[in-house]
Amino acid sequence: MTITSLNPADPADLVLAVEAPGAQAVRAAVGRARTAQAGWHAAGAAARSAALTRIAEAVEAHADELTALIVREVGKPLAEARGEVARTAAIWRYYAQAPFEPSGAVHEPAAGPGLLLTRRRPYGVAGLITPWNFPLAIPTWKAAPGLAVGNTAVLKPAPEATACALRLAELAAAAGLPEGVLTVLPGGAEEGEALVDAADVVSFTGSTGVGRAVVHAATGRGVPVQAELGGLNAALVLPDADIEQAAAHLAAAIAGYAGQKCTATSRVIAVGEAYEPLRAALVKALGLVDDTACGPVISAAARDRLTGAVASARAEGATVLTGGAVPERAGWYVEPTLLADVPAEHPLRREEFFGPIAVLLPAADLDEAIVLANDTPHSLATSVHSRSLDTALAAADRLDAGMIRVNAPSSGVDFHLPFGGAKGASHGDREQGRAALDFYTASRTVTLLPAGGA
Ligand code: NAD
Repeated sequence: MTITSLNPADPADLVLAVEAPGAQAVRAAVGRARTAQAGWHAAGAAARSAALTRIAEAVEAHADELTALIVREVGKPLAEARGEVARTAAIWRYYAQAPFEPSGAVHEPAAGPGLLLTRRRPYGVAGLITPWNFPLAIPTWKAAPGLAVGNTAVLKPAPEATACALRLAELAAAAGLPEGVLTVLPGGAEEGEALVDAADVVSFTGSTGVGRAVVHAATGRGVPVQAELGGLNAALVLPDADIEQAAAHLAAAIAGYAGQKCTATSRVIAVGEAYEPLRAALVKALGLVDDTACGPVISAAARDRLTGAVASARAEGATVLTGGAVPERAGWYVEPTLLADVPAEHPLRREEFFGPIAVLLPAADLDEAIVLANDTPHSLATSVHSRSLDTALAAADRLDAGMIRVNAPSSGVDFHLPFGGAKGASHGDREQGRAALDFYTASRTVTLLPAGGA
């Protein structure tokens, strides 16, 4: 099979075509990574820290080139692509400190002499499977903590983002990362399945259906697995919110990067009297979102699925408040779109569509808004817009989301905090922050008694 990635803003521009190596090549790469792992772990904390720091420096030194590659390969708007490169370097630097973190604790025995220790040890080879939408940051937030604590890694990126991942691996190798420590293998489902079948710990980010199958396969083998999946994220706007600010945040969360973030907002819930002013302000704010903020969607198939959903919602009585059309131009563009009166069972209210489209829903009060927001298994991120701290905290307590943001877009979270969803949006340990260090290590309990004792 040939893996191809095309420029979503100009599909005639072929970014990369490469042969998928097949399952056998994945098993061989995992074998080489396993051989390299003992030396990488034994190299020690200072050597691992220095290597990760050098990768951060290489990313910074190639920031313009990497930014341009992200824009070209996945159609990310320039400012967001630049931000992703900066974030990528910051993540490598953050995890460069991790090798020096304590790897366990000392405990008193329940009775008698001796010493009890816990120590965290790497599993071996981390199998990393990533989506296309953050083509440098997601591979990094999986690889960096895994490598910091002494695993090696084999990464299978999404086909649509293969060039970015291969370039990251090249920069890491040029920065002196030993051979076999971080291998990037292009591929699709066959290579992904082979990786899940061979790795010692599996980290997956992608769509819900594929993620569930990955979790099933990895748990069937008894290896630790984490999966970060799709979201159907809500935003709650209370009557006391700063409506203009909320509308600006929502427009960014709905249409920024064409809504192709797992944390993008796709359901806007306006409480009571917030509905009318929010509707007007949001229609205006979405009308102001231009190409420099929205950009194309990833493929013709994604565009057609989005426009098909708008058409079917319309046929079922929905009102298009703004957008809904496909601009006349090359590239896979969809207008930022807001719909009202979408029936409760329509797919736009039940499934992730991954595009610049949201539905506007009225709620009589906060209680109803929370019921609506929680009415999905895909509970990743929710935003709450209110001037009342009491309301915001009460909502945060009752919302089923993994991440709650108050007076901010649902998309975006600092890289040093745990990242993940609730209910069906997430499986296993959190990613990012210190939580990731726990995921890539197993705890051992060591009991030490005095030699020659009773
Ligand atoms: P996808 O599920 O189509 O692909 C993800 C990865 O899985 C790719 O590398 C793909 O090649 C691989 N894959 C496909 N079939 C496989 C199989 N049978 N076994 C193993 N691997 C297989 O997702 P995508 O279209 O690349 O990315 C978009 C999705 O990712 C959206 O649903 C989005 O919400 C989600 N996402 C989630 C987060 C998060 O942290 N929750 C972050 C970014 C993206």
